[in-house]
Amino acid sequence: MGSKERYHWQSHNVKQSGVDDMVLLSKITEEAIVENLKKRYLDDYIFTYIGSVLISVNPFKQMPYFTDREIEIYQGAAQYENPPHIYALTDNMYRNMMIDAENQCVIISGESGAGKTVAAKYIMGYISKVSGGGSKVQHVKDIILQSNPLLEAFGNAKTVRNNNSSRFGKYVEIQFSRGGEPDGGKISNFLLEKSRVVSQNESERNFHIYYQLLEGASPEQVENLGIADPTYYFYLNQSGTYKVDGTDDKKEFNETMNAMQVIGITAEIQLMVLQIIAGILHLGNISFTEVGNYAKVENEAHLAFPAFLLGINEMKLREKVTSRKMDSKWGGKTESINMTLNVEQAGYTRDALSKALYARLFDYLVDAVNKAMQKPYEEYSIGVLDIYGFEIFQKNGFEQFCINFVNEKLQQIFIELTLKAEQEEYVQEGIKWTPIQYFNNKIVCDLIENKLNPPGIMSVLDDVCATMHATGEGADSTLLQKLQAAVGGHEHFNSWNQGFIIHHYAGKVSYDVNGFCERNRDVLFTDLIELMQTSEFPFIQMLFPENLQNEKKGRPTTASMKIKKQANDLVSKLMKCTPHYIRCIKPNETKRPKDWEESRVKHQVEYLGLKENIRVRRAGFAYRRAFPKFIQRYAILTPETWPYWRGDERQGALHLLRSVNIDTDQYQMGKTKVFVKNPESLFLLEEMRERKF
Ligand code: ADP
Ligand code: MG
Repeated sequence: MGSKERYHWQSHNVKQSGVDDMVLLSKITEEAIVENLKKRYLDDYIFTYIGSVLISVNPFKQMPYFTDREIEIYQGAAQYENPPHIYALTDNMYRNMMIDAENQCVIISGESGAGKTVAAKYIMGYISKVSGGGSKVQHVKDIILQSNPLLEAFGNAKTVRNNNSSRFGKYVEIQFSRGGEPDGGKISNFLLEKSRVVSQNESERNFHIYYQLLEGASPEQVENLGIADPTYYFYLNQSGTYKVDGTDDKKEFNETMNAMQVIGITAEIQLMVLQIIAGILHLGNISFTEVGNYAKVENEAHLAFPAFLLGINEMKLREKVTSRKMDSKWGGKTESINMTLNVEQAGYTRDALSKALYARLFDYLVDAVNKAMQKPYEEYSIGVLDIYGFEIFQKNGFEQFCINFVNEKLQQIFIELTLKAEQEEYVQEGIKWTPIQYFNNKIVCDLIENKLNPPGIMSVLDDVCATMHATGEGADSTLLQKLQAAVGGHEHFNSWNQGFIIHHYAGKVSYDVNGFCERNRDVLFTDLIELMQTSEFPFIQMLFPENLQNEKKGRPTTASMKIKKQANDLVSKLMKCTPHYIRCIKPNETKRPKDWEESRVKHQVEYLGLKENIRVRRAGFAYRRAFPKFIQRYAILTPETWPYWRGDERQGALHLLRSVNIDTDQYQMGKTKVFVKNPESLFLLEEMRERKF
């Protein structure tokens, strides 16, 4: 460590700008924070600390400090030695994991387009570079890195706010051997925005893979898959947007295919994947006309291609998109009758099939990545959470409601661990402490997810979905009335004529209730499952493994039950690790470099709670370690503690601190832990320890 080349500010050709760590700000106001971030941003410094929390401002251009040289410099260095950097945070996680033998995680939060996904990729790249390992480990690294282009092709899309917006959340656990080599991994994915498969808002696109396939298909594929111009497909032409600035769909197609190769997906399955993608496009072109209140397929010729690509019977496909088997109770008996659908219902059924195919294909790909890097037992791990950011659009639907709920939960973790638990720990340990006020968003989480007393929005939604058979506006307006009755008086809730407003931690969002019930119910009719199970392709059969004979009774799982469970599982997983935070800030809406929209940044600084974060941090202690762990780590520094300290543990820790002459105002002794104020003091201990070995 000691002999390492030190970083020189001059190497960036810029002087130090503002303060590196906002704990050092002379005035702690939101204005001062914004001012500091601005100064640094305009000087090309995108990273700033608040203690160990990393703030990252999206530069919208490639910065020069992500080369091998920085990877070298940040390895094994203490935080304060070099300018703030995501590599420093990553290196710190890696070392913590090894030294403390504890799993680590990093929570990357921020609005859509703030730079979360790019940050996650830098973390994975750094770990891959600094960790060793033979060819087996190299293979795992390749899979972890290649999972990014693969899952982005199928899970990312152009939105108004981000040209490469993640439309799913992911938690990537990189697993390590005791020696620190990444030898396994696991990806959990959350709530893919599957409605995008069948429709997109203006100026947005469907998932990247569609455009990649259309641009990159070989002449043979063009022929076999029925590839045409994107304007030909209903699922692509609704938004009128086909190209994205700076994106080469053809080149990315090759990268996607290469990623599948690396992950070990066979050529045969790769072809099936593309066939399903093309099959969905062709399904979308089946349209309906009304004949005597009933839907009829407008152009029968449009049935042939999707049926061919999906390996199903054309006539059966026609039957299943225009009618539905219904159970009807008649005189105590249940009978199955075939109901003919109207045009709206037929379109809905077609779209349900397309969405299900796509979502199941996506899950298959995540599974394939997981199988390729799974490891039979767990040792150490670093988890990277990159989830879709808080979203406010002109029109916000059920998807935004779920996305914003998950963000609300992540903010809750941040508050729990950095503001609440930290302060409570001081009190518990008997450290002198003046409490610092902050907004706790638990109240908003409860408003959404409470089960009872009073029931939260999701509970009310599930009740309406379970009791009302009707879809469409009827159910949605009932929902609105019931919400008003259940949570109308809540201080973070208001209703308006077409929906409701939630006052989230990050701002007020107005949700349009239209479609909530249908999307929450999220059922795939058994007809469609049966249809897909008749496919001549085993791969497609495998995507529909349901055993329809012994279906379980009771309330079917709804989308909100799923997301609530996923969010809470995630929270408990994260709570078991030592957490690190990256707070991403989006400086403008133009996506241009050096463009600074003051009021937007200020708003983010406010709701991210950065001011409170600095206050707690400044008054608090950067490091804490339980007495036994502390003594064990630094035992070598004094003869009395080496190899064992035999007395009282508190006395042992105190003995160590005194014998190395650390300033008494630099630490406090709690009831079970040592609290060290500045990272520098801890680093001093580390250096002394190293010299002894
Ligand atoms: P999020 O995942 O938060 O929605 P992204 O990570 O996809 O946002 O970032 C959006 C876009 O901003 C990226 O596609 C890239 O163009 C730009 N960007 C983000 N972070 C950086 C960075 N560190 N350096 C350069 N460009 C960046
Ligand atoms: Mg993203």
